[in-house]
Amino acid sequence: MIVALAGGVGGARLAVGLAAVLSPQILTIVVNTADDFEHLGFAISPDLDTVMYTLAGVANPATGWGRAQETWNFMLALEQVGGDTWFKLGDRDLAVHVLRTLALRRGASLSEITRVLATRFGIRHPVVPMSDSAVRTRVKTDCGELAFQDYFVRRSCRPRVEGFRFVGSRKARVPAVLLRIIRSGKVRAVVICPSNPYVSIAPILSVPTIGAWIRQRDFPVIAVSPIVGGVALKGPADKMMRELGSAATALGVVRHYGDWVDGWVIDHQDARLKRVIERQGKAVLVTDTVMNNRSKSTRLAKRVVAFAQALGSGK
Ligand code: GDP
Ligand code: CA
Repeated sequence: MIVALAGGVGGARLAVGLAAVLSPQILTIVVNTADDFEHLGFAISPDLDTVMYTLAGVANPATGWGRAQETWNFMLALEQVGGDTWFKLGDRDLAVHVLRTLALRRGASLSEITRVLATRFGIRHPVVPMSDSAVRTRVKTDCGELAFQDYFVRRSCRPRVEGFRFVGSRKARVPAVLLRIIRSGKVRAVVICPSNPYVSIAPILSVPTIGAWIRQRDFPVIAVSPIVGGVALKGPADKMMRELGSAATALGVVRHYGDWVDGWVIDHQDARLKRVIERQGKAVLVTDTVMNNRSKSTRLAKRVVAFAQALGSGK
């Protein structure tokens, strides 16, 4: 089995490729839930939705969130009656928030309603939230400590970042399906998708059961760098790295993850970093990592899986 750890856009792009090359019995996609929040009475899970919409082929490729062919009647009507409009909820997108909120209110777990929704979208691979209980990212900034969506959406990531906290992570309730996989001893590799290291992957690793499992691994952890040619392809990962005093390069990402990762996948644009990364004791694969369409996602996923197999047989 292979477990992929994913945030939103970068995670979803690699997840699509992995799902194309690995069967649902082999691949499980574990998704960050620390961006989740309650808004207008709805339970919103941005990264789960991005992964689900992308796997289902209904995501909006231009925004990286929400659905394609969206309409905004609800938002316009909400504005007319004086509702909060800083967080955009499209008419189609709303359907998922309504069903999730109802299910949670009736006592279902986040992993159960995620499974139901994913199935209805025709997704065959398990998409599993990292936690069934609330874990919430708090961003320490020069404007004080902010809730994640306040920092990310309302303030467009403008405040200077000083650190992060994942409230609730110590008591996170790992979904039963993920616990079974962890305890099965059948996992042959963990793939860290090219998601934001600080606010997408760190929260997943901060869940004690998941973190301890990976730290004591007898399988390789492969990561794809989310920084390509010194920039984040989307979102504030590079800005965060600079603000936290690390170089916004693939090497900076390698140093950030340290012992969490055994094998690195970096882009051709960063090929010159291969030697330095190898000197840190890591295996390195240089390839095309920019996934601007499904076939590129699949091609990269094939290479990642082969790389994981090669590292696994050497372990
Ligand atoms: P979010 O939760 O939607 O913000 O998305 P993620 O945390 O999953 O992903 C954000 C990161 O994905 C950014 O640092 C991007 O540079 C990275 N990313 C997005 N698309 C790609 C891609 O095609 N290739 C690689 N290597 N990184 C990508
Ligand atoms: Ca996210």
